[in-house]
Amino acid sequence: MTSRIALVTGGTGGIGSAICERLARNGLKVVTNYRDEGKARAWQERMKEKGFDMAIVPGDVGDPAAAAEMVATIQSQVGPVDVLVNNAGITRDTTFHRMTPEQWHEVINTNLNSCFNVTRPVIEGMRERKWGRVIQISSINGLKGQYGQANYAAAKAGMHGFTISLARENAKLGITVNTVSPGYVATDMVMAVPEEVRAKIVADIPTGRLGKPEEIAYAVAFLVSDEAAWITGSNLDINGGHHMGW
Ligand code: NDP
Repeated sequence: MTSRIALVTGGTGGIGSAICERLARNGLKVVTNYRDEGKARAWQERMKEKGFDMAIVPGDVGDPAAAAEMVATIQSQVGPVDVLVNNAGITRDTTFHRMTPEQWHEVINTNLNSCFNVTRPVIEGMRERKWGRVIQISSINGLKGQYGQANYAAAKAGMHGFTISLARENAKLGITVNTVSPGYVATDMVMAVPEEVRAKIVADIPTGRLGKPEEIAYAVAFLVSDEAAWITGSNLDINGGHHMGW
């Protein structure tokens, strides 16, 4: 059997890298996108040193034309996308009364519109082949909100509506669609938060530590497996107990 092809957007980042590695370990052919070729080639080299052969293609997920071209390139150079992980994301934190239209739009565009931009050119092939896995990487803050993150929380909450609608539309076609909502994970995104704020966050997490990217990747690998065929329209919270009972 030829190996399944997984597109992990933002695969060069902290959580994305861990997802790429985990899926590759599980035998999938992994592709990610880049905006900065130099950075992506350096990442590809690091992966090669670890024994992974990752494919990279150019593509800004916030740009519908670029995302469609990225998918077309993958289809012609690697093959059809069986597994899509919408992981690319950014923050532009500030309280809402200070937020600029640019900070609002950039975050909605990269985190939420990207789900349309990348999933749209991929879904028809999955429907034709009657097999597919789509995962959105949302956030704990899309469920509980966060001071200074009205833009990010709105985008991440929007992913849930997208997930459950897409799950309903494709449930009979062998396609599952789910959301993974990480809590605070030790990546550049969280290490950019001022240290005293981070210390308060960690003090609030029942397990007493930040998450590891591999702990998110493991859940993604589970949800994209054949064995998870009856899990669709779900959200998996992974946050060290930071947000229980919702
Ligand atoms: P990183 O900042 O480490 O990685 C983000 C990745 O997204 C990078 O590869 C970046 O590429 C890519 N990216 C950003 N914008 C675009 C774009 N317009 N087009 C293509 N690629 C883009 O973040 P994390 O690994 O921490 O986060 C990954 C996901 O997990 C995000 O969606 C984030 O919101 C979510 N998340 C993270 C949490 C955490 O605690 N870290 C908690 C909850 C959710 P480039 O190098 O080009 O910028």
